Amino acid sequence: MEPEGAPAECWPARHFDGRTAESRPVTVGLEPGVITLTPALGDTARWTFGEFVLIRGDRAGEPVQLERRSQPVEVLIVDSPDFLPHLRRALPRNGRLKPHSLATPSLHVLLAVALAGAALLFALWKFAIPAFADLAAERVPPEWEDHYGQAMLEDLVQEHGRVSDPAVLRPCSRIEAALVPGVAANPASGRYVVLRSELPNAFAIPGGHIVLTTGLLRAMRTPDELAAVFAHESGHAKRRHVIRSILRLTSLQLLLSLVAGDPSALSSGLRTAGELGGLSYSRQYERQADDEAMVLLASHGTSPAALGDALDSIRRAAGVTGGSLGFLSTHPAPAERLERIRAASARLVVTGRAGWRDPQAWDAMKQALAAPRQDQPDDARPR
Ligand SMILES: [Zn+2]
Repeated sequence: MEPEGAPAECWPARHFDGRTAESRPVTVGLEPGVITLTPALGDTARWTFGEFVLIRGDRAGEPVQLERRSQPVEVLIVDSPDFLPHLRRALPRNGRLKPHSLATPSLHVLLAVALAGAALLFALWKFAIPAFADLAAERVPPEWEDHYGQAMLEDLVQEHGRVSDPAVLRPCSRIEAALVPGVAANPASGRYVVLRSELPNAFAIPGGHIVLTTGLLRAMRTPDELAAVFAHESGHAKRRHVIRSILRLTSLQLLLSLVAGDPSALSSGLRTAGELGGLSYSRQYERQADDEAMVLLASHGTSPAALGDALDSIRRAAGVTGGSLGFLSTHPAPAERLERIRAASARLVVTGRAGWRDPQAWDAMKQALAAPRQDQPDDARPR
C-alpha cells in the first residue's frame, strides 16, 4: 500500500521475460510514452506505448496484465488496482492499450485500412510507429529486402569501391563460412562486401549482406576480433534489425507506399537510410546483436571477450584516422555494454572450435592491405 499523500508513481509487479517460466519482481513506473520496469538488480527496461497491449485488467479487482509483442513475448502483471487508471492517463493521445485489429492483419486488410483513411492511419502511426514498423517489416517480402539491399550495395560500391583481392577476402570468407550456416569459404560466393574506406566500420544492410571496410580490417588485431564484429552484424541481420530500424525512421508516406504495394518510394527511403554508417539502432537491438555475437563466439571456441577487444581496436583506429567513429558512433558503446560483455565472458562456456584462425591467411591480408593499390582509387574521406 502507498503511504497516504505519497505520489503513487511506482507499483510492484511481476515480469516474465518469456525465456523462463519464472517471474522476477520489478518496480513499474510511468514516464511520458514509456513504462519502466526496474528489477532489484540490473538494468531498467523500457516498454514504449505501442510495443505492448493490455490483455486483462478491465474488471474490478483483476490484476493488470500487459504483453509486449517481442520475441519471445514478455508479460508484466501488476496487482494494484491503482495502476490501470495511471496507465490510461499516460497513454499518448490516440494511442490504445487493447490489441488492435491491426495486430494480425493480412496485407489486404492493411491496404484497405490505408485506403479507407490516411488520417486515421496517421494518428495510429504517430503513436505506434515502432509497433507498426515491425508490422510493416514483417510484410516486406524477402525478395524486396534483397532487391533494395542489392541497390544499396551497388550505391556503396560505386561510391567507395569494392575490394576483390582474394588475399584480403580470405579471412573474412573463413569467418563467414564458420558463422553463417550453408555458406562455403569462397570469396566469390560470400554475402559480405569489403569497401575501400579507411573509416573503421561494419554494418548490415537489407537482405542479410554485411559490409566491412578496409579501415576495419586494418584495425582488427586478431581473426577473433574480426569474427566478433562479423558475428555482431550477423546478429543484426538475423533479427532483421536493418529493415525494422529503417521502417521506424521512415515517413508515413513511405510506409503507406509500402503498404499500398508501390516500391518506388521505398527504394529511395531505404537507400538514404542505408548510407555508410548512417543508420543507428536502438539500444535494445544492440544488446540483442551483442548477445547473438557472444553466444555465437562461445560456440565457436572463442571467448566473448573478443567483442570487447574488437571495440577497443576500433576505438584506437578511429582515433588514428581522425574520422568519425563509424561503427562506434552507430553502435553506442557505453560502459554498460562493456560490462555486459565482461559478464557474458564469465558466464558463457566456450565450446567448439574457431574455424577462422589461420595465421598465414591473416598475415597475407594485412600485407595486402598495406600494399599500394593499383586497381581502384581509395576513398578515405571520413563520412
Ligand atoms: Zn550493432
